Formats: sequence, C-alpha cells, structure tokens
Amino acid sequence: MARAITIAVALEGQLRLDDQPAFAAAVALARQRGGRLIVLAGRPEAQRLRGPHQRRLAAQALGSLRSRLMAAAIPLLHFPQLSTAAALAAHGELLRPEVVLHCRESWLFDDWPIAPASFPRVFAEFRRGLPQAPLPPLPPADLAGLGAGLEGWPPTWLQPHPQPQSPCSPPPPGPRPDTDSVDPRSAFPFRGDEPSALARLQHYLFDTDGLRHYKASRNGLVGTEFSSKVSPFLGIGSLSVRRIWAELLRYQALHGADEGSEWLKQELLWREFFLWSEQRHGAAFHDPGGIQGRPHSWVADRERFRRWTRADSGHPLIDAQLRELLATGYLSNRGRQWVASHFIHELQLPWIWGARFFEWMLIDAQPALNTGNWAYLAGVGSDPRSFGGTPRRFNLEVQLQRYDPLQTHRQRWS
Ligand SMILES: Cc1cc2nc3c(=O)[nH]c(=O)nc-3n(C[C@H](O)[C@H](O)[C@H](O)COP(=O)(O)OP(=O)(O)OC[C@H]3O[C@@H](n4cnc5c(N)ncnc54)[C@H](O)[C@@H]3O)c2cc1C
Repeated sequence: MARAITIAVALEGQLRLDDQPAFAAAVALARQRGGRLIVLAGRPEAQRLRGPHQRRLAAQALGSLRSRLMAAAIPLLHFPQLSTAAALAAHGELLRPEVVLHCRESWLFDDWPIAPASFPRVFAEFRRGLPQAPLPPLPPADLAGLGAGLEGWPPTWLQPHPQPQSPCSPPPPGPRPDTDSVDPRSAFPFRGDEPSALARLQHYLFDTDGLRHYKASRNGLVGTEFSSKVSPFLGIGSLSVRRIWAELLRYQALHGADEGSEWLKQELLWREFFLWSEQRHGAAFHDPGGIQGRPHSWVADRERFRRWTRADSGHPLIDAQLRELLATGYLSNRGRQWVASHFIHELQLPWIWGARFFEWMLIDAQPALNTGNWAYLAGVGSDPRSFGGTPRRFNLEVQLQRYDPLQTHRQRWS
C-alpha cells in the first residue's frame, strides 16, 4: 500500500455530512491510499460576515458536526478569522495536508442548466428551458477508521470561537450571537444542526399534512407550519437542496404529484434561478441598476434609514414585520415582500441599503437570493413587468385585509 497521506476537507461554510461530494472524494482517496482525514472550518472566502441570527444557527451546526466527526477521531479545526487558504499558509508547520478538498454550496445542478449566452432574465423562461432533472444527492460518507486523531492539535483550534463582529458602525441591533435563546414567538424556533434539519424535512413532508397544503398556506405570516422553513438550514449548509428534491420525489411516489409538492419544487427552482443569475450577470447582479442597468431615483436619507432599522418606519404593519426580523431573523416571504416594497416605493430609500440590512439580519441570508428578490421588487431585476414598465407595488391595506384580516401578526409583534 502507498504511504498514508493527510487529506483535508475544507467546509467552506457547508455544515453537514449528507450529500457532500468533497467528503465522498476524501473517503474514496483515504481508503485507496490509507490516508487520514482532518476537517478545516475557515471563514468562507467568498462569503460575507454572517449576522447574529445566522451565526447562532451556524454555531449549533458546527458543534453538532464536531461531535459526529470526533466519534470517528476526525479533528474539526476551526479558524474563524481566516480563510482555509490563509489558515494553511499561516499554520503550515502543523497543517500539512497533501490534498485539500473544498465543499461547495448545495445547488440542484452542477453545471449551467442553460448555456450562459442564452441564460434568460426571467424565471418562466428559465423553468421552461430546463433540460435535465436535478442531480440526486450522495449518501453521507462512511468515515469510520479514517480520522487523523484528536491529539497534538492546539486546543484553541478544537474549540468553538465567536465570529468577528460586523464591519458596520455602530453594530446593528439584534440578540447576541453566542446565546441559544430563541424568542418564543419565532416562526423558526429550530436548532440549526444537520439532524434538526433532516427532522424538520421529515416532519413537513411526511409526518404532517404540511406539504399537501403548501400552495394555500405559503403566504401565511405566523407559526412554524405555513411553509417548509428549510431556508435557514440551506443558508448554513446543514441541509442539501438535492436531499430536499429527492425527498419531494419520494413523497410524490407515495402520494402523487399534488399541488403542494409541485409548488415547493417550483420555489426551489426559484432559488436555483437566482444562484445561476448571479453567476451569469456577475457584479451587475448586485449593482443598484441591477441586470437591467436602469437609472435609479431614491432619497439617500440616512436618518429615515436609521429609524427603519429600529422598526420605526412610520407604518404599523411594516414595524411589526421589522420587529419580528430583529427579534428572530426570520420573516415570511409575504412579510419580506411588504417590507421591501414599502422601503423602495413609499420610503424611497436606496434598495441596496435595505438589501444589505436584510443580509445582515436574516437567519437564512443568502446574497444571491436576497439581492435577486430586492432587485425584482425594485424593478431592476427579473420581474417581467418591470422591463420597460412599472414594477409591482403593494397596497398594504389590501394586503392586510387579505393575509392578516384578524391582525394576528400585528398583535403578536406590537
Ligand atoms: C426581499 C426578499 C429577500 C429574501 N432574502 C432571502 C434570503 O436571503 N435567503 C433565502 O433563502 N430566501 C430569501 N428570500 C426568499 C423567501 O422569502 C425565503 O426563501 C422563504 O421565505 C424562506 O422560508 P421557507 O424556507 O419556509 O420557504 P418555502 O416557502 O418553504 O420555500 C422553500 C424554499 O424555496 C426557496 N424559495 C422560496 N421563495 C423563494 C424566492 N422568492 N426566491 C428564491 N428562492 C425562494 C428557498 O430556498 C426556500 O427555503 C427573500 C425574499 C424576499 C422577498
């Protein structure tokens, strides 16, 4: 047998064992070469800092992963301030892997589902043009007997660390990230670790009637059951989107392709659309003029913005949504649309300010999804109505009558 090698798996913010091609490749190589595994948790290079709610969830997922890896004597070495490359460069004398394999964010497709040159600007065309079925997930790798051992590492590398603070000044409001406490009113009271993610999926798809009613309930505002609540797990990589898709197919094999399961598949395709759109358009995707390169008119009023970040927007319906966002990091899709539309069209503030604040505060923050949705509502993104026309503007009084006639949400967050 060839000389044993050290193989490092760099998590890159993906906090699960299920459906991780990098782990599968590391295990195959280790078995072939008699290699030993270490796992590196650095600060993902391409990723912005996580806000307080997402950090809390990520810390839970990392802790759970650490215990499961320890059971196979695989050290999870944590460098919260450094990228993997920087950690390898700075600590070369101790970290000397022959091979480094990097985990990637979970997408349905590995390669362009539609060629970049003809990639559509609107979702309906994307959906129609999809040529192939998404790839199936890989099962979790069998790590038994492959650990490099837990001895001989600096103890601080094996400990959980808090992440660096926000570059914003002053730090935005919100709970301390190192506390596990959750507001009892939260629509997302779950822990962030992989077992909790899989349990939530099982619960929503198979243990209750949740999925069957998804199409009707997805515009809800209060509680855990109006939508799947998979986004916070996807955001920290403790759940794979291919696992969700495969479970939806399993559900459909048992119950038929009902409206609820078809609609949830469509929402996952929206996620995919924005992820690939960001790749297609590069910097323009996050530009104030968006993929349409539209000139913008707004009022860069810092005081108005500051009040908004304190849930003092001047509209009670929006303030209730913002209070929920600050306290829990989760907002329903309907609530996000209201808040963004009000920010853009009524307060006339720069949409990128609102998007950046959401990115810091959301428990499921994902830059492509967040910007894609804000730009859509600002009329500079992929809303078909906005190409040469006017973007959608919500009438909040009508919305309130339709979606919260008893004012349940407003009272809960008054
Ligand atoms: C202004 C604004 C900002 C948003 N920012 C984010 C964000 O940073 N991260 C994020 O994950 N979602 C974002 N969304 C999309 C959506 O609101 C959330 O994905 C959804 O509310 C999460 O709850 P859920 O998992 O229960 O959703 P479900 O309704 O159960 O949907 C299941 C999954 O489908 C995908 N999905 C659903 N709606 C959308 C959508 N409009 N665009 C793209 N994918 C979607 C998500 O992956 C979601 O987890 C944003 C929406 C708006 C209007």
